[in-house]
Amino acid sequence: MFKQNEVEIVTIGDELLLGQTVDTNAVTLARELGAIGISIVRRATVADTADAITDAVRQALARTGTVITTGGLGPTADDLTRPTLAALFGRALVRDESIVAALEALWASRGRGGALPASNLQQAMVPEGAEIVPNPEGTAPGLRLTDGEGRSVTMLPGVPRELRAMLQQSLVPWFAARAGGTVLRTRAVRTTSIAESALAERLGASKRSVAGLPLAYLPGMEGVDLRVTARDLPPDEAAAMLDEAERLIRDAVGVHAYATDRVTMPMVVLERCAARGETIAVAESCTGGLLGARLTEVPGSSRVLLGGSIAYHNDVKVRDLGVSPDDLAAHGAVSEVVALQMARGVRARTGASIGIAITGIAGPDGGTPDKPVGTVWIGIDVHGDARAHRAVYIGDRQEIRFRASQAALDLVRRRLLEREPVGD
Ligand code: AMP
Ligand code: MG
Repeated sequence: MFKQNEVEIVTIGDELLLGQTVDTNAVTLARELGAIGISIVRRATVADTADAITDAVRQALARTGTVITTGGLGPTADDLTRPTLAALFGRALVRDESIVAALEALWASRGRGGALPASNLQQAMVPEGAEIVPNPEGTAPGLRLTDGEGRSVTMLPGVPRELRAMLQQSLVPWFAARAGGTVLRTRAVRTTSIAESALAERLGASKRSVAGLPLAYLPGMEGVDLRVTARDLPPDEAAAMLDEAERLIRDAVGVHAYATDRVTMPMVVLERCAARGETIAVAESCTGGLLGARLTEVPGSSRVLLGGSIAYHNDVKVRDLGVSPDDLAAHGAVSEVVALQMARGVRARTGASIGIAITGIAGPDGGTPDKPVGTVWIGIDVHGDARAHRAVYIGDRQEIRFRASQAALDLVRRRLLEREPVGD
């Protein structure tokens, strides 16, 4: 009656609700279990109280039948998961001698001297009939309770390092056996410089799937990621369907697709430049070094990025980049002519093969009817062929700056594609 490959997660801890700790455990569980074909169908976060834990786990068991909890397994008074779920399953707590022995051995090995504190012995009190999930990284073992109808709750500690170790050692094999060899896999085709609505038109506005796989539009500052998901399939079949879906998506969106999955725009641009022997220099006004920072984040960027200038003040644009003071006076710093001069200037002064310039109005002040907040001119000089592009970005100051850096890199990527024979 319950699906064997569906799980609910309940993460337990006041610190999670207060926002003091980010719930990375739910993310780890979803990723690792998803990879072996287990879907997380719902997750909840609850306080360190018996009522909250009981409520959340009871409902999850009734709905889905398989629950994983994290947190509240420690030796202190706020750790309530063990007694609370023992009560929910109607089990008494009994002392497990194998856990006592393991705790004593661990205590001795850490050289703390004396006897194991009584509070640690709490961790050896387990619900009758519970399976023990070994914890190779800490004192609190995990526990699994299963009722007469096959509903189960697996309790894991909150410490992320311990959780990851137990997941690999015990949970992944246990769930993989239940999933029967099927997997859950996703593929994201990353697009930029194209609106979500325009993508929808290209893909077929009503389209909710590609090659039979459900399609999600995931817009962000980097662009729109188009993600397809293959579920409940053997690994080979999932891979083949994802390949087919990726092919169809790339055909539809064309040059706007720049990467898949976790590959970023700076990685793509640096890779193409390195392969062609190109070098880059940056001239940044409103982005104040963001473009350079995004490029240098990528290991190995020194093969391509020479350096550049943060030319924020007009005097620096003149002195460092050779921008004409007359043009600055006549057209303003956010203009086609200045973007072109910045790109040419930084290329000439560094000896790079590609100069990238960004000058814009990031806001919130400084906009005019002619040049509203978000107006950005980007200059790209590739081997002496300099072109400028204007865009008006939406969003706050940080978004405008980030979108400008993304667009500048995308323009470089596309200029390089122009120079390459098809199929390269
Ligand atoms: P606990 O097992 O509840 O004693 O949790 C121990 C520690 O693990 C907490 O103090 C948090 O720092 C961390 N922790 C607990 N739950 C989570 C979670 N869902 N994600 C990330 N860290 C957590
Ligand atoms: Mg806790």
